[in-house]
Amino acid sequence: MSEFRRNSLTGQWVIFAENRDSRPQEIAIRQSALENFECPFCEGREERTPGETLAVRDPTSRRDGPGWRVRVVPNLFPAVGGGEHAKPQAAEGNTTAAGGLHEIIIESPRHLTSVTQLSAEQFAQVLDVYRQRLAALRQDGRYKSVALFKNSGTMGGATLSHVHGQLIAIESSASIFADRTPAFREQFQRYGNCLICEEIREEASRDGRLVAESEKFLVYCPHASRFAYEMWIVPRKHQSSFDQIDPAQLPELADLFRGMLVKLEAIVKLPAYNYIVQTGGFDTLADNHYHWHIEILPRITNLAGLELGSGCFINSILPEKAAAALRNA
Ligand SMILES: [Zn+2]
Ligand SMILES: [Zn+2]
Repeated sequence: MSEFRRNSLTGQWVIFAENRDSRPQEIAIRQSALENFECPFCEGREERTPGETLAVRDPTSRRDGPGWRVRVVPNLFPAVGGGEHAKPQAAEGNTTAAGGLHEIIIESPRHLTSVTQLSAEQFAQVLDVYRQRLAALRQDGRYKSVALFKNSGTMGGATLSHVHGQLIAIESSASIFADRTPAFREQFQRYGNCLICEEIREEASRDGRLVAESEKFLVYCPHASRFAYEMWIVPRKHQSSFDQIDPAQLPELADLFRGMLVKLEAIVKLPAYNYIVQTGGFDTLADNHYHWHIEILPRITNLAGLELGSGCFINSILPEKAAAALRNA
């Protein structure tokens, strides 16, 4: 029996159809098609990428040389910006200049293909680089909003298997990203509270969708999960933007976050996924209505016509069952 659920944050509907379970062995075969060629992200090939924007380095090492642990470089094939900064232009109707920045965060000098191959300590360093880049881009003043994400595995849209994240910051004030900010703003203006703070209150007490928790963070499968085993990591305390996080909390977050990916790998062999650090726009901090969170979106089945055409998703696993499986993994 299928079920419709509406995501109150986005207004999008999800169809839960439990009879449409996928076959993990197909994924394994498709994922093995990712071939390692001369990887431009490996240590020692720094000249194959544009010069670094930021790197966590041994003090004796040289810029754009070996000796780094995390390295941020402009994308050689940017989706926005294209090197030179375009002058910000006023949005005209449905068209606006794609001024912005597209960066790659290379998360290990070694050719690792999964975040779970990093130690929790190394992953905390990666999260700290995310934090530093978001803080620097806010400080920069040219950018209005940012998308920080990872594509992992072929089904997740990755073209290089070396573990890396991406960051796209845009200068336009037009709402190019179909983000959740307007829903949060409306909730705040109407009811004076926050959608995620409300959800946390409910999550902790009922429903069985809680997967894990730590002192400062919760992980749950959202009510209208679009993807099988979709997980959201949220800070218990209201905070608009990821770069506001106290760096002292990063080891705890890294440990929990990495642990969720380990669980996912236990359930789905060689999982492909996207994760997204959903953070408030750079112009929304003063409003404080947004609540940053991390969405882990496993990509077990392809997005197909219905999802692309209607924005309505089909999910083969109810989040209550997904959460139970993840708790036990
Ligand atoms: Zn590599
Ligand atoms: Zn909140």
